[in-house]
Amino acid sequence: MPAALSVILVSFSAIFGACMGSFLNVVAARTVEERPWWGGERSICDSCGRKLTALELVPVVSWFALSGGCKSCGAKIPLRYLIVELGGAAIGGLIAWRWGISLTAAFAAVVAAGLFLNALTDIYSGYVYDLFAWGLGITGMLMRLGGGAGALFDGLLGALLGFAVIAIIIFVSRGGMGWGDASLMGGTGAALGWQLTAWALYSGFMIGGVIALGLLLFRKVKRKDAIPLGPFLAIGGIVSMLTGPWFFSLLDMSVRWPWG
Ligand SMILES: [Zn+2]
Repeated sequence: MPAALSVILVSFSAIFGACMGSFLNVVAARTVEERPWWGGERSICDSCGRKLTALELVPVVSWFALSGGCKSCGAKIPLRYLIVELGGAAIGGLIAWRWGISLTAAFAAVVAAGLFLNALTDIYSGYVYDLFAWGLGITGMLMRLGGGAGALFDGLLGALLGFAVIAIIIFVSRGGMGWGDASLMGGTGAALGWQLTAWALYSGFMIGGVIALGLLLFRKVKRKDAIPLGPFLAIGGIVSMLTGPWFFSLLDMSVRWPWG
């Protein structure tokens, strides 16, 4: 693809990713608060209740344009909105950069959205919702129909591997990890296939370990505090999609459909 075209594609995907991040943030927040997902209610300022205008709802740009505060009451707009939108933009941009316009890119975008949603509900409530964890798995299996019997079998192996590894940790450690995490890795495994699931678990635990250590060192958390694991598993899944094919090529292994 010509360079100019791929710059346009990556930029467009980053903007789309930021909008998706913003949308999934609303879905996650409404799920946790047990409000309906879709309804007449428009986005409002959490503080003064004023309805936000379309111009105040542009991902990333609005946050900076308003200097992180509401125009009427001056209440701070939580930094997490910006982080979620920037995260979505980064993921969208990376997927387009990695796979261009392709079936794999579409597959990766759907999986990334599922992982993103599960990470957000875990951060907001401390729970992984079975609906979203298994929803990701079922969606993954349905998409795998496009890759034939081999791809479906790979998804099944991935689901078993992801679920089993967390289940073993639950039995061995008795605490720290819950069945929601097992469901999340089961669903992730169905979407990723067994190879990328193994790499996702490894990446997730490494990233989680480093961040937990950092939080301990800087005394942001105490040793006994529970740090939700779901977000790290989700980050591991996204990192695995982006880097797994390269990693397995170092081992002289080719990854299965749709990643190979
Ligand atoms: Zn306000």
